[in-house]
Amino acid sequence: MNPSRRRFLATTAAAAAGALLRPGGAFALPAWALPREFTAIRRNVGFFTMRGGTIGYLVNDGGVAVVDSQFPEQAQACIEGLNEQSGGRGVDVLLNTHHHGDHTGGNVAFRGVARQVVAHRQAAEHMRNPPGGSPPEDQLYPTMTFGDEWSADVGDERVHARFRGRAHTSGDAVITFERANVAHMGDLMFHMRHPVVDRAAGATLRGWMDVLQATVDAHDADTIYIFGHAGAELPVTGGADALLGFRNYLGAVLAFVEEQVNAGLGPEEITEMRGPLAGFEAYGPFGNPSARNALDVAVLEVTSGE
Ligand SMILES: [Zn+2]
Repeated sequence: MNPSRRRFLATTAAAAAGALLRPGGAFALPAWALPREFTAIRRNVGFFTMRGGTIGYLVNDGGVAVVDSQFPEQAQACIEGLNEQSGGRGVDVLLNTHHHGDHTGGNVAFRGVARQVVAHRQAAEHMRNPPGGSPPEDQLYPTMTFGDEWSADVGDERVHARFRGRAHTSGDAVITFERANVAHMGDLMFHMRHPVVDRAAGATLRGWMDVLQATVDAHDADTIYIFGHAGAELPVTGGADALLGFRNYLGAVLAFVEEQVNAGLGPEEITEMRGPLAGFEAYGPFGNPSARNALDVAVLEVTSGE
C-alpha cells in the first residue's frame, strides 16, 4: 500500500470517529467514510461492519480467517485492522458465504493477502456468471470449492463450512467456528427486515425455511449467529430464536399468499398487496415489485405448486 492511501484511511477513520461523537453524526457521513468497526464475540472470533454484508473474522495465535468481504474500500479497511491484531500475518483463508456483490465485492483487496479463497461450488459459479447480472471487471475467485462441506484448522480453531440446500440462492454456506461456537449465516439471515430472495440464482422460501431449521438443529442453545444483514439499529448477531423468528416470517409470507390464492385472487392482485405482513409489522411494507422480493417469490412458489 502506498503512503497516501494509508493516510487517507487514517483520516477517514479519524473523521468517522469524530462524527460518531456528535449525535446523528454517523448518518451524515458519505458511504466511503462510514466508521470501520471490529466487535469481538467470543474466543478470537468477531465481526466487522462498515458497508455491505457483515464480515466475520478469526484472529488467533496460529492463523487468520475471514468470512465475506463487503466492497474493496471496506475490505481494505478490514484487512488493515486485522493486520494490526495479527501482526501482519496475512489471511490463511477467506470464505465467501455466497456470490452477491456486497459479500464478495471486496475479494480483490485480498489478492496477495489471502492464501486461500473458499466457497460452495455453486456460489463460485455464480461469482463468475451472476444470474441476471455480470461479474465485476476484476475479481479474486475461489481457489477451492466444496459441495456439501469443507473444514480446516486455523490455529486452535476449527472452521467448518456447510451447504444445506437452496435458500437465499442455490449456493449459501453457513461458516461455523466450532470451538468458539459462532456461526456466520451470510444472507441466510436477514434479521427483522425483508430479505433479498434471489430467485434467478435458485432461491426458494420453502427450502430456506428448511435450511434455517437444519442449521438450528446442527448447533446448540449457546451458539451465537452472525447475520448478513439486520434492520436499522438492530444487532447483527443473535441466537437461535432470531433464526426461528425469520423462519416464521418466511412461513407467514407463504401462508399469506396461500390464503389469497385460496380466496381466488390472481398472482397480480396478490403481488400488489404490499402492506406490512400481519404479525411482522416491524419489517415494514414490502418493497417494490421485484423477483427478488419475498412476496413476489412466494406468489411464484405457491402458484407453481413448487
Ligand atoms: Zn445476498
